[in-house]
Amino acid sequence: MKRFHEALAGDLPMLVDTTLRDGEQTAGVVFSNREKLRIAKMLDNLGVHQIEAGIPVMGGDEKEVIKELVSYKLKASIMAWNRANIEDIKHSMDCGVDAVAISISTSDIHITHKLKTSREWVLDNMTKAVEFAKKQGFYISVNAEDASRSDFDFLVEFANRAKQAGADRLRFCDTIGVLEPFKTYQVITDLIKNTGIAVEMHTHNDFGMATANSLAGLKAGARFIGVTVNGLGERAGNAALEEVAMALKHLFGVNLGVNTKDFRNLCEYVARASGRQLYPSKPIVGTNTFAHESGIHADGVLKNPETYEVFSPEDVGLERQIVIGKHSGSKAIKMKFVEYGIDLSDEEAADLLAAVRSVTVDLKRTLFDKELMYIYEDYLYEKKLAPSTSKEET
Ligand code: MN
Repeated sequence: MKRFHEALAGDLPMLVDTTLRDGEQTAGVVFSNREKLRIAKMLDNLGVHQIEAGIPVMGGDEKEVIKELVSYKLKASIMAWNRANIEDIKHSMDCGVDAVAISISTSDIHITHKLKTSREWVLDNMTKAVEFAKKQGFYISVNAEDASRSDFDFLVEFANRAKQAGADRLRFCDTIGVLEPFKTYQVITDLIKNTGIAVEMHTHNDFGMATANSLAGLKAGARFIGVTVNGLGERAGNAALEEVAMALKHLFGVNLGVNTKDFRNLCEYVARASGRQLYPSKPIVGTNTFAHESGIHADGVLKNPETYEVFSPEDVGLERQIVIGKHSGSKAIKMKFVEYGIDLSDEEAADLLAAVRSVTVDLKRTLFDKELMYIYEDYLYEKKLAPSTSKEET
C-alpha cells in the first residue's frame, strides 16, 4: 500500500482498479484464483494506486484469494467491497485488507424499489457501517450507488454524513451509465462545493461515455478514477484503465508514471481470462490502432509517424503495421517490398497496385504478406510468359 499512501500525500489523480470486482461482476465472466492473483500483480507492476479485489462476504474462494493477495504486500492498496452492514465488514477484516468500500444506494428508485426502505434508513446504516469500519482503522470509500440518479440535496446530506462518520472519500457511482460529460462536470463541481469530500468517479459505459465522464469529473475536482482493464464491467462496462491513463497523459498532460508499455500484455491477458475478445478497433490497445492502409495515411506515417499517430505503438506494447489492401498506395507497396529486400520500379509498383486492388476486392479484406508475395511471383511469371512487350517488338 506504499504507492497509495505516497500518492495520497500528493495531489495527482489516482487510479482505483476494479477489474477483480466490477469486472468480474460482468455477466458471464469468472476468473480463477490464479488469474485473479496474476491480474493483481500485473496491475501493481503497471502502477495503479488501489485494487478493489473482491467481495469477502461471498466467502469461499473469493475470500481466500483476497487473503492471499494481501500477503503479497503489493505497492497498491487492497480494497474489499461491502454492503453497508457490519457483518460484511467483519469478513473484510478477516482478509487483512487496508481499505474498504461501503456501498449503499442513494437514489429514490433504488431506495423504494430495491431496498424497500427510506432515506433515513440509508443514512443510518451507512453511518453505522462507516463508524464501525473507522474504528478498525480502514481507509474508507463510501459508495453512493446510483448517485447519478439521486436527488442532489439528499446526495449532499449523504456525503456530509459520510464525512462526519469518518469516510475518506465518496465513490460517485453512475451505476447505470446515464451521465454525459457536461452534466458530470456540473454535478461534481456542485457536490464538492457543498461537501468538500474527496470524490472517486465510478462510471459505466452504457452510452459509450464512461471514460469521458470520468475525466469530466476529474476536471470538476474529483481525484480518484475507478477503472477496469478493457473496460470490463456490468453491462457495457466501466471506464477502461488503458483509456483513462493514456488520456490523462496525452490529453491532460498528467503523467502518473504508469508503465504504459505493459498495456497490450495486460489487456490481452485479461481478455483471455474473461473470455472477451480484444476487438481490433479497441482504443489504445486494439491491433488496428497502429495499422495504416489508406495510401495517404500510410505515406504520411512512413514520412513521419506523428502525421497520423497520437503516440508511438511501443508506448503501449504494440507495433506499427502498414497493411496492404484496397486503399494502399504505390509508396506503401514499394516500402513493403523493401522489407523483403526487393526494390520495385515505379512501373512495377503501379502494376502490382492494380493487381492488389482487384484481389483485395475479391477477398473483401487486406492481404497477408505471403499473399502479396504470391501476387508478385505471378506478376513475374506473367512477365516471363510475355517477355517481349509491344514496345520491344517494334
Ligand atoms: Mn459498477
